[in-house]
Amino acid sequence: MRVLLVEDDAALAAGVCTALRPDGYAVDRVGDGELALQSLRREDYELVLLDLGLPRRDGLDVLRQMRAAGARVPVLILTARDATADRIAGLDAGADDYLVKPFDVDELKARMRALLRRSQGRPQPQLEHRGVRLDPATQTVSLHARVVALSRREFALLHELLVQPGRVMTREQLEGLIYGWGEEVESNAIEVHVHHLRRKLYPALIRTVRGIGYVIDRDGAGVPAREVP
Ligand code: CA
Repeated sequence: MRVLLVEDDAALAAGVCTALRPDGYAVDRVGDGELALQSLRREDYELVLLDLGLPRRDGLDVLRQMRAAGARVPVLILTARDATADRIAGLDAGADDYLVKPFDVDELKARMRALLRRSQGRPQPQLEHRGVRLDPATQTVSLHARVVALSRREFALLHELLVQPGRVMTREQLEGLIYGWGEEVESNAIEVHVHHLRRKLYPALIRTVRGIGYVIDRDGAGVPAREVP
């Protein structure tokens, strides 16, 4: 899940990045409103965490501009305590939720999961597909009710593929979703993660679409669930 964090308080931003990365989020951080708009034009994000008091262009302005440009990405605003007027203005300008600083990172993560579920049109918190169950809240994956240990990148990659079965994702798209700016990506990283996922779960789970990328087929295609070992 690719996330843009717009926050000028460097210590707070570093804390949020550190808290989110183990959960498989690829977090890009910018410290002012102009850079936020540039990043939003250039990259596809699944969620934006937006501080309101920002240098160069304030958060409300960023929000209004991005909504005016048609961006539908969920936005969670981060506001100072007691700034009720800001929260109301933020929600009216197109924010989806807000959190008051200082906040608990576990609450931040829960609100992010709720927003992502909503934007994916998914009422249930877990993702399930042919014996595989992924729980974003507990960061666990199981196969036929047995927990399978995955690395954080494997988890993130599986999550991206499970969110929309039937959608073929290119290697470049997957790299973009599971690695943030400045994170080193080996040229065969995605193939290696897919290889590990097939081995730890089962080979037919992820199908290679030759010359294009990878897909988890919708139910009804590929191998029936009962044939899964
Ligand atoms: Ca600020």
